[in-house]
Amino acid sequence: MKQSNHIPTRMCIVCMQMKPKKDLIRLTKNNQGEIVIDHNYKMGGRGVWIDKTPDCVALLKKRKCLERKFKCVIPEELYEEINKLING
Ligand SMILES: [Zn+2]
Repeated sequence: MKQSNHIPTRMCIVCMQMKPKKDLIRLTKNNQGEIVIDHNYKMGGRGVWIDKTPDCVALLKKRKCLERKFKCVIPEELYEEINKLING
């Protein structure tokens, strides 16, 4: 079967569903070793993707998905920033 549409999809690390990139937030580790939001999907390094849904964002924090992926402490401010993104 040939796919006619070319919408790039990525997997949300919380619910493991494939979603269009525009519905996801990309997070990556910067040169200072901090986890940051990659707003333009342009930053290098290993990125992770999460849904822009309140459910996945809530579970992201509850299940410590980011801590496990990046093996570092995630500051409260990052979760607040993500919350602002999905509510804004
Ligand atoms: Zn999800």
